[in-house]
Amino acid sequence: MILEATPSVGNEINPWLSAAARFDEAVERLELDEGLAKVLRTAALELTVHIPVQLDDGRLEVFTGYRVQHSIARGPSKGGVRFAPDVTLDEVRALAAWMTWKCAVVNLPFGGGKGGVICDPSVMSEGELERITRRYTAEIMDIIGPERDVPAPDMNTNAQTMAWMMDTYSMHKRQTITAVVTGKPLDLGGSRGRPEATGRGCMIVTMQALRKLGLEPSNTRVVVQGFGNVGGMSAKLMARAGFKIICVIEHDGAVFNAHGLDIEGLMKHFHETGSITGFSEAEDIDRHEALYLDCEVLLPAAKENVITSANADRVRARIICEGANGPTTSEADAILADKNIFVLPDILANAGGVTVSYFEWVQDRQGYFWNEQLVNGRLEEIMVNSFKDVVGYAEKHKVHNRLAAYMLAIDRVAFALKTRGIYA
Ligand code: NAD
Repeated sequence: MILEATPSVGNEINPWLSAAARFDEAVERLELDEGLAKVLRTAALELTVHIPVQLDDGRLEVFTGYRVQHSIARGPSKGGVRFAPDVTLDEVRALAAWMTWKCAVVNLPFGGGKGGVICDPSVMSEGELERITRRYTAEIMDIIGPERDVPAPDMNTNAQTMAWMMDTYSMHKRQTITAVVTGKPLDLGGSRGRPEATGRGCMIVTMQALRKLGLEPSNTRVVVQGFGNVGGMSAKLMARAGFKIICVIEHDGAVFNAHGLDIEGLMKHFHETGSITGFSEAEDIDRHEALYLDCEVLLPAAKENVITSANADRVRARIICEGANGPTTSEADAILADKNIFVLPDILANAGGVTVSYFEWVQDRQGYFWNEQLVNGRLEEIMVNSFKDVVGYAEKHKVHNRLAAYMLAIDRVAFALKTRGIYA
């Protein structure tokens, strides 16, 4: 919906082309061997499955699903499964590569994978969703597993979907294997701290950026776009850490308070009324213009293509923390760099989620579960180290943070490939 505010900019808004452009730029800067680049550009394994499912009205329907493993050079592939009517193999392929770079930036022992089923969950019953999930799992069984490829929730899939996947896999293997998926319910091998992990990661890297730029949380005004899992949790944790959240933008409006919004009160209001607008302690403002407010931190945490070549020059934030995947197009990167905006790129900023998914996998394999303090402490360590790695790399190679994140990630995966050698 934000596209109303950001005029169409043609191919620029194809996030997969943006990701490819960044990959190409990073490969060029790294002067990577063309053969290695070819390997890294290509998914290692792509599986298409056709899933017959009996619908509630008795009809038999056939759905198409995909699972793509982009890379297993650094460990099992890791990545979500989405259910949506417009899923394509191209999209799943691009998202799988994206996961490879994200896992490598935060130095997890995973490669990247992604899955999807073409279906419309909004018109499907719980029973139909369970049958589609189980049959999809059965069809991709031979290529997933704790040591091979570990799915997780993504668009329109959730902890219940993961419980069905885990159960289906386990029934076939004749033993309960919780580590085959992450994002499970807590009582079925899920990890404490997972629901907050992405927002917590955003808060941690933003705090690092403030330190780097000599700013204090109490003088930091934040504008958050998207008040869901990532945006809501980031706002809550940042407010607790003393940041002033001056504006929250949702799909139907924006609210503003120059002294800082009462985030927990706003969450209650949002939950009760279904909208953030009309909150008593704030002023309703134009949601399109809100993106360009004078602030220290802009946190796009709703969707892709929010900052493009058409509006990047209007952004007045000192720091952009990309909670969402792909909120900035590759054409906008250069404009933000010229404006000296400190960008915390998505593959770093929102990697807290996959990091705690990694912790879930580790805990499942150990059969020993950590308390929340331990999860949060280890998450902090990984996010702080990753921030330092990316920013240090950017300074050393005189590139902006996003290019540094891609170069670092590609370098790590290329190193693994080279060192393992090509099996022939
Ligand atoms: P969510 O559905 O919980 O929240 C998204 C929120 O954004 C919703 O409240 C929605 O109403 C709002 N929104 C939608 N369009 C908007 C618009 N045009 N303007 C303002 N608000 C709008 O989703 P989420 O899990 O918070 O994910 C948000 C983004 O973060 C996505 O890009 C997702 O891929 C990415 N992400 C999520 C996680 C995670 O752990 N949940 C991890 C990494 C990346």
